[in-house]
Amino acid sequence: MNEEEREYSPKRFAISSVACPACHAKLAREAKWCEGCGFSGAKSMEMFGDSPPPLLPILDVADLWDAKGQRKIEAEVKTFEKRFPQIRWRICAVALGSDVSLPLFGFWLMNVSPLLPGESGEDREWTVLLLVDSNSGKTSVTTGYRAEVWLSDEMWGNALEEILEPFSKGHPDKAVVLFLRKAKRLFESAWRRSKKQLSAK
Ligand SMILES: [Zn+2]
Repeated sequence: MNEEEREYSPKRFAISSVACPACHAKLAREAKWCEGCGFSGAKSMEMFGDSPPPLLPILDVADLWDAKGQRKIEAEVKTFEKRFPQIRWRICAVALGSDVSLPLFGFWLMNVSPLLPGESGEDREWTVLLLVDSNSGKTSVTTGYRAEVWLSDEMWGNALEEILEPFSKGHPDKAVVLFLRKAKRLFESAWRRSKKQLSAK
């Protein structure tokens, strides 16, 4: 990777985050690094390298889902995207272990992974990345800048709780499907709230 490409992700630092993935400080949209702790896209590359895998709609590095399970997840994503077509889901299973911070890893994937053919920078800003660590069972959500305003961290936490039981019972596909359904319900109520606010003005 040449120097110019290396500059790419630090420039995009704030796109995937309203808050710093390392210390949760609020960030300005054009921030190239966090004023609070100094974290940047470049730092994430020091941690995880400069060649992430392509961020496919379903990226199963951990071999967590079989073909049937992947189809179930794809169908649920389609249902979601029919209702909220601007949102781009990325569902990713990794095997990292508990010493790795999933939010930092998700940030790295979202920012350093090159755009897919046909994917625009704006698409990436509307992306929501679900990460499941098949080793630890931990999960996290990383949202692009435009997707981030929809749900609070607490709401995403609620949606992620849906994963725990089916995952522990050996149904990793059902876990994602239930998570997506809960996320859709939360988006529905966020959408209704924002419409109400608009009509109240
Ligand atoms: Zn920070």
